[in-house]
Amino acid sequence: MKIVPFPLKKSSNKGWKDVFSNPRPVTVESFKTGTVTLNMRGTLNPKHPNAGHIEDEDLEVPIMAHLVHHDDFGDYLLDTGLDASYCNDPRGNVRGIFSWIFTDEFQQEKDENIAYHLNKRGIKLEGVFLSHLHSDHMAGIRELPHDIQYVIGKGEKCLESKPFHYGGYFKGLEAIHEIDFSTVETMPPLGPSADLLGDGSLWAIHTPGHTKGHMSFLVNGLGGPLLLTIDACFIRENLERSVAPSSYTWNVERAQKSLDNILEFLREYPQVRVICGHEKP
Ligand SMILES: [Zn+2]
Repeated sequence: MKIVPFPLKKSSNKGWKDVFSNPRPVTVESFKTGTVTLNMRGTLNPKHPNAGHIEDEDLEVPIMAHLVHHDDFGDYLLDTGLDASYCNDPRGNVRGIFSWIFTDEFQQEKDENIAYHLNKRGIKLEGVFLSHLHSDHMAGIRELPHDIQYVIGKGEKCLESKPFHYGGYFKGLEAIHEIDFSTVETMPPLGPSADLLGDGSLWAIHTPGHTKGHMSFLVNGLGGPLLLTIDACFIRENLERSVAPSSYTWNVERAQKSLDNILEFLREYPQVRVICGHEKP
């Protein structure tokens, strides 16, 4: 599979205030594609000075995917969530000699998988933007069309390796497109932000920490701006306590910095609504 640069149009925006003064005909619908069990210790970094005492308790949270509909440009997915293979197998058909050690386990009810949600609505996708390459955010690729654009942030690595541990997520894809955030505008206080469709409607924001190439998204719709933090912020408590996650995290310090930027952004633009990575809106 080839990795090719994602073609970005030159954006004419002069910061978020300018972006929000020109909302676009774009809406979001969120789907639950399964459930994952997290622990509170790690969902909130227990070593953060603000953390206080964090209970060692399990937390059942949804695995989400978000459909963005643009009146002029069509339908795009932000993450895929899970395909139907998790309905009968919590490991979702992951194979390999070490799969029994490393594979995450998820739960899924019948008719929660991403293709079910899309088919039910008769959606024909134009493309998929993947916040990062963890299986709960990308496994759904396996049941989506292959002849559309799949886009990741540069630096994002897929941990698949045959014959040790592999889910075949990219099987059949010819290329994957990569956003190079060093070439896009820095939009304070969030940082490098890419105007994905070129009209200010949908933005990818570089929020490294959870993974190296992690992206959050901003949808600038007529109903007001909506920030999808994805895994820069797993649940509401990360925002409320200003404490980033530490589990499943590539770089805890960078993750905290990305969350701090988001918190500053939300203070500056209180009209922005937020959906965290593993909460049901
Ligand atoms: Zn993740």
